[in-house]
Parts: sequence; structure tokens; C-alpha cells
Amino acid sequence: MLVDTHAHLNFPDYSKDLNDVINRAVAEGVKYVIEVGTDAPSSKRALELAREYPFIYASVGIHPNDATSSTERDWQEIKSLARERKVVAIGETGLDYHHNHSTKEDQRRLFERHIELALETKLPLIIHCREAMDDCLDVLRKFSGRPLKGTFHCFNGSEEAAEECLSMGFYVSFAGPVTFPNAHRLREVVKSVPVERLLLETDSPFLAPQPRRGKRNEPAFLRHVLPVLAQIYSLTEEDIARVTTFNALELFGIGGGNNNHNGKIAYMIRNSLYLNITNRCSNLCSFCPREERPCVKGHYLGLDTDPDKEPTTREIIEAIEGMDDSDINGRDEVVFCGYGEPTERLDVVKEIARYLREKGVKKIRLNTNGQGDLINGRPVSEELDGLIDSVYVSLNSANSEDYEALCSPRYGDRAYPALLEFTRTAKETFPEVTLSVVDVPGLDTKACERIARELGVGFRVRGYNNLG
Ligand code: SF4
Repeated sequence: MLVDTHAHLNFPDYSKDLNDVINRAVAEGVKYVIEVGTDAPSSKRALELAREYPFIYASVGIHPNDATSSTERDWQEIKSLARERKVVAIGETGLDYHHNHSTKEDQRRLFERHIELALETKLPLIIHCREAMDDCLDVLRKFSGRPLKGTFHCFNGSEEAAEECLSMGFYVSFAGPVTFPNAHRLREVVKSVPVERLLLETDSPFLAPQPRRGKRNEPAFLRHVLPVLAQIYSLTEEDIARVTTFNALELFGIGGGNNNHNGKIAYMIRNSLYLNITNRCSNLCSFCPREERPCVKGHYLGLDTDPDKEPTTREIIEAIEGMDDSDINGRDEVVFCGYGEPTERLDVVKEIARYLREKGVKKIRLNTNGQGDLINGRPVSEELDGLIDSVYVSLNSANSEDYEALCSPRYGDRAYPALLEFTRTAKETFPEVTLSVVDVPGLDTKACERIARELGVGFRVRGYNNLG
């Protein structure tokens, strides 16, 4: 399932074959299209299209190139359209200093009006920014602290600019140019955007991707960007489709509501099966999105933290067996992970691992904060012997003091020594043990790596913005 978050199907380019274009989009798995207005008449047409086709939604606004020529009456029309059902965003708006069809002052003034309208209607902004990033960010900074949301469409700024857009809470989308053979710089910028904040778009009829470059673009061509993005993020095309669709549904609230917010118990990333058996954890890491947005790679993982309401062993097995492709032996590995500490439910881990073994699963991994011995009041490695093949322990700091500051462990200053001790016993028990850190700013990665070396286990750094 794909979402084209930016298309102009109301442009004359599609006057002769719009139905064919739409049928091709559906055939290629495009589930929703956001039809974007660029002035009052095209915003009106966008809404008409949205009313005609259930899977099309509309965004209304005046393009910065029309800032000087547009009238107060146009703006009043946009304001009234913005309140219509099926209008899910405000834009495209922003600044364009490439064409200079409008004065900078008019562009800024109109951009600010769009921002106020987005705040008023609680809709996300669709921002067009061309050769005007500094000013664009400057305008947005004036609204800092207010509940702005939205996306930078067809992003072409620097990594630093992307970072600031992300820190303001915006999503970022890239169109066909990301597939062009010489677009190395742009692909570097993509790398700086966590996939959790990425959207797909075509900007049809413009910017057709390889191998359609130079031709009229259409939503069906969205699939051409998938292999490129999959390579950049080291994910599968299915992963990219799922995450970007999840993001689009979250941001625009389309598709009859939002994503299903029943926490998934079994979920796939790449070719690995992950098991989310609890959201309880003896830590409260500052970088953990568990409390605010328990999502990973397009999966919602929020579970009830009441132990009586957590999934039972039977429900976990049913979740595994009910997956679209339930061939668990075809997976690279099965991982106890999710947003919680699996050893909070040690017995469940053991029962499920036994079930997986009986099914012939060769590789089972446990991702843990290493506090299982403290949580259970006894050494746990031995009990997992033969059931677990690989253990990833989150080290996260080079000493106890920093660990406590970063992870706020329930066990205070006992937590860090316990995780080191667990790692030692794990090394004696399991074929593969790895200490991992999240590269939060200021972390002494080298010192952490030294600890892993001294303990004789592997070491892995995970991106601060790239959990899961
Ligand atoms: S140990 Fe893992 S699940 Fe627990 S708070 Fe830290 S990041 Fe979140």
C-alpha cells in the first residue's frame, strides 16, 4: 500500500485520460492520493476530485509564485475550502526564490497566513521551499511553541536544514529526483531523515522518476522510488511502503481515521520476525519513544502495561500464526524486542522460545536492557540456555553515572553493574552476545566499545534517530 502525498491531477495534463491514470495508480498499490491545490481555482478542483474519488483527499492553498497576483477574494475562498470535509492539509504554501514571480514580502505574508490557517483548522501544512530555506525556517521559527505540523514537499535543502525541519516536528518527502543517477547529494540528505519522518510523493505531473524521467509523471510511478529508498535505509521495499503509508495516515488522518492503534504483537522488519510481548521496562531511557509514540518502522507497538492485560502466550502464538506469511522458518531470525523489556515476562519468553524451537526456528534473539537478573531476582541466562541464540544488551553508557542519567533505571546504581554481570554470564551461555549503544549526543562511543572488547563480546552502534 502506498500514499502519494503530493499530486496535481487537476492540471490540464490529465484532462484526456484521468481515469486511466487513476486505474494505473490503483493497480500499482497506491491506496490514497493527496491532490494539492496551487491557487483558489485549482484548490476547488482538488476538492471536487476528492469528492468524486473516495481515495483522493485535497489540500488547499496558494503557491508562493502566485502570492503577488492572488487577491483577497482568492484567500477568502481558500479559507472557506479549508473547512470542507476531505480537505486534509493547507498548501502548497511556502517560499520560492527561484522564479521570483512574486515579491519576497508578499510570499512571506501569504506563507504566514497559511500557517495561521493551518493552526486554526488544526490541519498540516504542505510546504514548498525553493532556494529560500533560511527565510522559510525563519518564518516557521516565529511560530515555535505552537502546534504546527506538516511536511516539506520535494525537499531539496541541506542535511542541516533537514535537521531543523525535523526538530520542528515536520515530515519530509522526496520525489522522483532521488532516483536520478547523478543525485548523490540528494541521496545523502535523504540519509539524514529518519524513515519514521519520511513521506512519498510524485509531484505529478512534474519530476517523473527514472526510468520515466522527462515524461509526464503520475501516481503509479511512485513505485520507482521504492528500490532507491530501500537501499538508502537498508530496508525492503515493503518496509518503505509500510512506514511511509503509516506516516501519511498519521499526519493527514486519512483513510477513515488513523492507523490502527492496537499494539502489534508480531511484526516484520526486513526478513526478521519481531515479538512485542510487553511495554513494561525497568528503564525510562530519555531517547525511548515508548511513552509518546510507540511506533517502529510503520508498526504501532503500544500495549496495555497492566500485566493482566498483556498478550498471553496463546495470543502471541496466534499473532505469529495469523501473520500474512506465517512461514516462520523462512525468516532470518525471530527477535524478542518491542518497546519493553522482554525479561519482565521471562516465563513467556521461555514458553514462546520453546514453541519456536519446536517449529524448527534456528535463530532466536533476545534484545534486553540486561537487567533480567534484577527483575527476576535470580540469574536468568542459564534458564534461557538452548532457547536463545543471540543476545543484544543495551549498554548505552560507559559508566554507571551516565547510565542512570540517560536511562533512569528503576534499580538505580545497581542497574549498570547488573547489566555488565549479565553480559558476562550471557557470554558463557549464548553463541552470540553483542553490546549496543544508541549514539546519543555526548556518548563516549570509544569507551563503550572498549568495554565490549574487554568482555569479549560484539559491539554495535545504533542511530539516535533510527530505532528498530
Ligand atoms: S531499555 Fe529499551 S524499552 Fe526500556 S526504556 Fe530503554 S529504550 Fe525503552
